[in-house]
Amino acid sequence: MKSSVVAAMNRPAPMHALARYVRDVPDFPKPGVVFKDLTPLLADAGAFAICIDALASPWRARRIDAVCGIESRGFIFGAALAQALDAGFVPLRKAGKLPAQHIGVDYELEYGTARLEVHADALEPGARVLIVDDVLATGGTLLAARELVERLDARLMGAAVVIELGFLNARARWQEGVPLYSLLRY
Ligand code: AMP
Repeated sequence: MKSSVVAAMNRPAPMHALARYVRDVPDFPKPGVVFKDLTPLLADAGAFAICIDALASPWRARRIDAVCGIESRGFIFGAALAQALDAGFVPLRKAGKLPAQHIGVDYELEYGTARLEVHADALEPGARVLIVDDVLATGGTLLAARELVERLDARLMGAAVVIELGFLNARARWQEGVPLYSLLRY
C-alpha cells in the first residue's frame, strides 16, 4: 500500500456526528476510568448502520478475506463489518472459550494480564485480515490480536476501531505501514 494512503488512514479521525451516541460512564468498571458506552449507538438502527458503513469505507477496495473481532464488543462491530465487506468473521476469544484446537497470546493489562485465543485453522495462510474492536485504549489488546493473526501466517491489512482514546497514545505502539483506522477520537 502507498505510504501516503497509510498516512491518511492513520491520521487522527475528526469528531464524527456519531459522537452523540456515545455515553460516558464515569468510574466504570473502576474508579478513575471513563467507560465509553456504545449501547446508545447500537440501539439506534440508523446510527449503527452509518457507523458500520463509515468503518467499512476505508477497506472496501482492499479485498478483506476475514474480519477478526475481539471479544466481546468487537464481535458486534466485527460481525456487521464482515457482512458489509463480504468477508468471513473470525472471533478472537478470551481464554478457555474456543472448543477446537487453538493458539493464544498472553498480554499485559493495566492491572494484571489477559489472554486472547483463536482457532488454529481460523485463517488461511496469506488471508487478508482486518482486526476490529470497539475501543482502543492502551493498545495491548490490539497488539495481542495482531500477534495471533501473524502467528497464523495471515496477512494483516489493518485494524479498525470505533473509538480511539488518543491521550493513551496506543498508536505509538502500532506497526508503521499498517493502517489503524478510528472513527471517533478522544
Ligand atoms: P486496551 O488493551 O488497553 O487498548 O483496551 C482495549 C479493550 O478494553 C477493548 O476491548 C475495550 O473494549 C476495553 N476498554 C478499555 N478502555 C475502555 C473504555 N474507556 N471504555 C470502554 N471500553 C474500554
